[in-house]
Amino acid sequence: MDRKEQIIEYFNSLDRSLFMDINKDLADVDTALPIGYGQTVSQPSLVLEMTLLLDLREDSKVLEIGTGSGYQTAFLSKFSKTVFTIERIRELYDKTKIRLENMGFDNVYFKHEDGTMGWKKFAPFDRIMVTAAARFIPPSLLEQLAPNGIMVIPVGGSNYQELLVVKKDSEGKVSTECKGYVKFVPLIGKYE
Ligand code: SAM
Repeated sequence: MDRKEQIIEYFNSLDRSLFMDINKDLADVDTALPIGYGQTVSQPSLVLEMTLLLDLREDSKVLEIGTGSGYQTAFLSKFSKTVFTIERIRELYDKTKIRLENMGFDNVYFKHEDGTMGWKKFAPFDRIMVTAAARFIPPSLLEQLAPNGIMVIPVGGSNYQELLVVKKDSEGKVSTECKGYVKFVPLIGKYE
């Protein structure tokens, strides 16, 4: 089985209701759902698409902005070496940290903060996943992306965003490609 097939197999086996306080029948529907505090988890098919776009490797060090329910984090954890995930809402941070630790995701480090500044102490990151809508690519995240790194980030206004794949080559040259249109809750932060 290649990596893409492994990710799809994991996707098909993972029960989304374990990450939310709802029943399995509803969690199985391919739709965005509320996770409390005015936030949502994306539809599973979009989580799968974004995971595949990130092109995770076994030795990847990943930064995730917007831990939310931890559903996306589970994919990052399963298919990379280490995950550093940041959530700005204290209640979601607390709840999801306990949940994922109890589920045995032991390569994930959690932080309660504004993720637009990245996590300098552990930079650079091979992969960066942003799961909230940015008005522009936060410069700190671009700076903390390693050479040959990939970032997936929705960028745009409040109605819809372009789903961007941002690549940094070995010499630091950055290119972006739009992979479609999405609608995320806003990335709220400093963006320096
Ligand atoms: N990936 C999450 C999941 O699987 O449940 C869904 C994320 S939800 C669409 C977006 C999340 O980003 C929310 O939990 C929100 O609080 C968080 N967020 C928004 N701005 C943020 C910021 N500056 N730093 C960290 N988290 C942020």
